[in-house]
Amino acid sequence: MFRQFRNSQDPTLRQARTILHIDFDSFFASVEQQYNPNLRGKPMGVTATNGRTCIIASSKEAKRLGIGTGSRTYEAKKICPDLILVPADFIKYFEISKKFLRISQDFTPFVELFSIDEVFMDITSIAHLFDNNPYKMIAEIKKRIREEIGEYVTASFGISYNKLLSKLASGLKKPDGVFEIKPEDLDSVYKSAKLTDICGIGKRIKDRLNKIGVTTLLDLRNISYDRLVLEFGKAETQFLKNISLGFDGSPVVSHATAPSIKSIGRSYCLPQNEYDKRKILQNTYELWEEISIKLRRLNKKARTLGFSFRGNINIHKRKTYSFYFDDSKEVFYLFEDLLSDDKEMFFAKDSYVRQISVWVSNLEEKENLSLSLFDSSKKNNLMSAIDSINERFGDHTIRNGFLLYTDKLTTVPNGYLADRYERTKLAKDL
Ligand SMILES: [Mg+2]
Repeated sequence: MFRQFRNSQDPTLRQARTILHIDFDSFFASVEQQYNPNLRGKPMGVTATNGRTCIIASSKEAKRLGIGTGSRTYEAKKICPDLILVPADFIKYFEISKKFLRISQDFTPFVELFSIDEVFMDITSIAHLFDNNPYKMIAEIKKRIREEIGEYVTASFGISYNKLLSKLASGLKKPDGVFEIKPEDLDSVYKSAKLTDICGIGKRIKDRLNKIGVTTLLDLRNISYDRLVLEFGKAETQFLKNISLGFDGSPVVSHATAPSIKSIGRSYCLPQNEYDKRKILQNTYELWEEISIKLRRLNKKARTLGFSFRGNINIHKRKTYSFYFDDSKEVFYLFEDLLSDDKEMFFAKDSYVRQISVWVSNLEEKENLSLSLFDSSKKNNLMSAIDSINERFGDHTIRNGFLLYTDKLTTVPNGYLADRYERTKLAKDL
């Protein structure tokens, strides 16, 4: 989302803005602890609903023991044999998320739901109602969370002059904290923050930056543009340089003004290191099927597709095509084609995969597209019949023959709202 930086001519940059980022602390776990007082003060983890063995959220108490999101349950149990595990209940989390969205919207219409437990608020135009003191407003929001959601669910607040930095700020004083980054604080924050504290730098990018001697955000500012281009290419370099300068002109987009969905993605954490390539491909097919269903529900088609397999092998691929697609079989065919470059690595006997991610982007409204070669009205009729049955009885009621013998995945957002589809759906439900 931060990739679309605007240049300094952008009107949103001319006027100083005040942006709030609110991020709930250990959200799923805190919600469980709010509902069930017996869980309070104890190390506990929330696990995915369909037998996955990853902890998708751990309580503050578990975090203190080093049990974080993504830990495997058996490893976590080794650290803490008393660890309580609770299956995820996304309906409950959505309810709380909606309640919170409503609270935020009581303050300003400029609220962007960024994930199930995070919002951005542009409070520039309402700051005067709180004597231009954002802390006053935060105190009021905190009070309403306590009263309407519960005292065990806390949030951390970041204040700054753009989204990038307000999100960085909210992460720096967790839990239950408030942190502000003013323009004059930027250098000191950038000196001490970890590279991965900032949205847009994940572990992989961090490792590559470390390799070329960049260990802080200030290093990133100081390293030459050309050196970065060598490692990352031009587009990524521009993105990283903007981060290093604290630039982000992107507006807070409320979902009431419905932004168009730019990409759809899904990740799946396999219950164990999976060596069986057939199983991996079956699971991947199922994820592609979900994505295709979502595309069709949105009346869109995509022309970029990407995936990654992570395990003791790392395969990461993407490709943009000259045609558009929304059919799972077609998408799977393109995926197999992409995978074929790394076929030997993938099919090697001792290679395993633990995490599968798939996504599509470059979406276009179907009605804007001329019919592609793949399209035939017969196929489209069949697909819409399948979609309507799946819509009624749950996804994957009608499944491709290929999947008959695999366990059914449950279509739930995995940990956070991975894509705008779920966020928009949630916002529309309000
Ligand atoms: Mg959070």
